[in-house]
Amino acid sequence: MALASPNLDGAVSKNPERGRLIVLSGPSGVGKDTVIAELMPLLPALRRPAAYTTRSPRPGEVDGRDYSFVDLATFNEMESAEQFLETALVHGNRYGTSRERVEAVRNEGYDALLKPDVQGAAQLRDAGVDALFVFLAPPSPEILRERLQRRGTESPEELAVRTQDATHELAAASWYQHVVVNDEVRRAAREVAEILSERNPNLS
Ligand code: 5GP
Repeated sequence: MALASPNLDGAVSKNPERGRLIVLSGPSGVGKDTVIAELMPLLPALRRPAAYTTRSPRPGEVDGRDYSFVDLATFNEMESAEQFLETALVHGNRYGTSRERVEAVRNEGYDALLKPDVQGAAQLRDAGVDALFVFLAPPSPEILRERLQRRGTESPEELAVRTQDATHELAAASWYQHVVVNDEVRRAAREVAEILSERNPNLS
């Protein structure tokens, strides 16, 4: 199984065989989205199948690209029909990884990148999914708290819950295959790209 190498050195193509599943997880506020935004152009053979969520779209988010935004009844129906590889309740909203979308990406020979919270990642592990698990960690718990505060999207109560949750989330790092510290977004993205390329003897 192979993943295309970073395009820093030129040619990149999708995998000749079935693509891999890459799980990039970590605590809320650690910067998964910003690292992924830097990572995607480095690895053109990577695709991000949109997850489903019951939360409302934020300004600028596109339905079907950032997430598929569905109501709770629809989400529950999909869950009953076993359409999700994992689901989680994250800060009051449901999130789920579409089995079908992940399969479609992998069957086309692309590697599928997921960014579940740590509960979702643990479900994938427990289900025995053949994924590469990468944990994105903050430089320190204090810095994570500062980042959550600076984001300014949470009330003081929500911030307290997220900070407390973060303590448990950080403890999860121990079982992942790789831990990358998000001290600087570009550096962290490059490190993730290198980890993925290392496992690509055919293309690196
Ligand atoms: P946000 O709503 O701010 O984009 O994401 C909130 C949290 O939900 C983040 O920790 C993110 O990793 C998590 N999340 C996003 N998509 C999924 C998913 O498909 N499954 C799970 N379990 N968590 C997700």
